[in-house]
This record gives sequence, C-alpha cells and structure tokens, in this order.
Amino acid sequence: MIPPAPSPIDLHTHSRRSDGVLEPTDLVRAAAERGVTTFALTDHDTLAGYREVVAAGAVPVGVTLVPGVEINALVTRDLGLWEGELHILGFGLDPDDEAFEAALAIQREQRRVRFERTVDRLRELGLGIDAQIEMLARDGNDALGRPTIARALIAAGHATSVEDAFRRLLGHGCPAYVPRLGLGPVEAIAAIRAAGGLPALAHFSEAPARLDVVRELVAAGLGGLEVYYRSFDVVTVEAVAEVATTLGLTPTGGSDYHGDTGTYAEAHAGLWVPPEVGSRLLGQIAPGFGVP
Ligand SMILES: [Zn+2]
Ligand SMILES: [Zn+2]
Repeated sequence: MIPPAPSPIDLHTHSRRSDGVLEPTDLVRAAAERGVTTFALTDHDTLAGYREVVAAGAVPVGVTLVPGVEINALVTRDLGLWEGELHILGFGLDPDDEAFEAALAIQREQRRVRFERTVDRLRELGLGIDAQIEMLARDGNDALGRPTIARALIAAGHATSVEDAFRRLLGHGCPAYVPRLGLGPVEAIAAIRAAGGLPALAHFSEAPARLDVVRELVAAGLGGLEVYYRSFDVVTVEAVAEVATTLGLTPTGGSDYHGDTGTYAEAHAGLWVPPEVGSRLLGQIAPGFGVP
C-alpha cells in the first residue's frame, strides 16, 4: 500500500532487547527522524527497551513513547492457526509492575529453553551455529528468538536469508522446528490487563473469517485489534477495520520492524497508521504511561 503521508504512528516494533537488530534508543530516534510522533516499542516478553530509553532521557522531543510488549501466545487447541500461535500486544502497561515482570521472566526463560533446543536440533542436523550464537549473545541480545537463529545460520553459511532459514529449517513442521512453551492468549490478555495495559491482537489477517476466535478473546478481555499492519493490503485493512468496529475494539497499527530486510526508514515508507489511531490509543491508556 502507498501511504498518503509519512505515518505519524508506529505501535509495533522490535529492538535488540528481543529479536530486532537496533538498540532501543537508535530505533526510537530513527522513528522520530521519519516523523513518527506516537511510538511503541513492543519487544517480545520484555519492557527493558522502554525502561532504558526513558532512563537515558532519550525520548526525542515531540515523540510520545508508549510502553509496549508482544507475547507470542501458544494456542493448544487445534484452531487451524498459523504455527498454533496468536500474538498479543500490550500497550500502556505499568513498566514497574512486579507481577507482570515475573510473568515475562518465565516467558523469557521458556524462550531460552526453546532457543537452545533449536540449536541442539540444528547441530544434530549437521548445521552447527554455536560460534555464531556466542557472537550474537556477546552483542547483547537477551530475549533470543528464531530470527536470531536465522541470522546465525546465515553467518555460518547454512542459509541465504531469514526467510530461507524459516522455509527450510525453522518454520512450523520443518526439521529444526521446536514447539513453543509459555502463556496462552487468555493468560496473556489477563496478565496485560492486570498490569494496567490494553491487550490487542496482532497481525491477524484471518480476523474477518475467524470472528469466533476474536470474540472468544474479547470475552477474555481483549481491547484492541491491529488493523494497520505494514504488510496488509488495502482490502485486508478494510476487512480487519470492520471487525474492530463491529466488536468495539481499539484499532492499532505498526511496522513490526525487526531490521532483517532493511532500515527503519525503508519499513516506515510502507507504513500508514492514521493519526486518530494514536490519539484514540493514548486516550485508552493510563495517564503517566506513554508520556515522556
Ligand atoms: Zn507477532
Ligand atoms: Zn512483532
């Protein structure tokens, strides 16, 4: 889709505190340089990046930084979903909520276990990446994910791109695929609510066809739906927007920038999240959070 203007909003991004490539402060600065005024860091299972940017006084002038998180929730019932997962974003959470931090610490531990099992599986397949992983770990990644493994595979010459690594080795059903452990979507929604946050369902293009799934999550406390996702086409955006309206969900939107396929500026060039999405979200979250 061709944005009518540079998007002033980006509510879905990943830094090196999970599986992105940029330091949190560099990512926020890159967004500010592209004209983003309402921005959320939504690292997997951690608010560390948000806390760092705030503690360093590195929120750029004119930018509202929203505390955010993404929890890749495990769906144990067979609903025919991609990889058996639903991704739940949380916005405006209390960054110092101890119960939430404890829940995220367990998620991160389970992520680490899955990560190590995947590396073991690759070694059994004759695709050792220990040296590359050690290098990445020294670089400060602390919530390691499959994109990290994919980058190590590329560095070791075992894959040509992140996409190639997922298609042949790491994706659901592939030889080095290891199932995830951790919170389910209902538990993730409850944990985000308990920390004062607004839970939103991420990049669920199936929403119009799977109203049953979305309704079930609404009953569990879901409050938002990611409508303006960077890779959705216009027809999908309209259809998902209609779901949000029908179910009374707050629309959100973002680039889901990780950094594997280009710079933040390149990702941002393909993103459009209307300004009213930012103001509506800010109206929903607790005052004091999300304000520099
Ligand atoms: Zn996701
Ligand atoms: Zn994401």
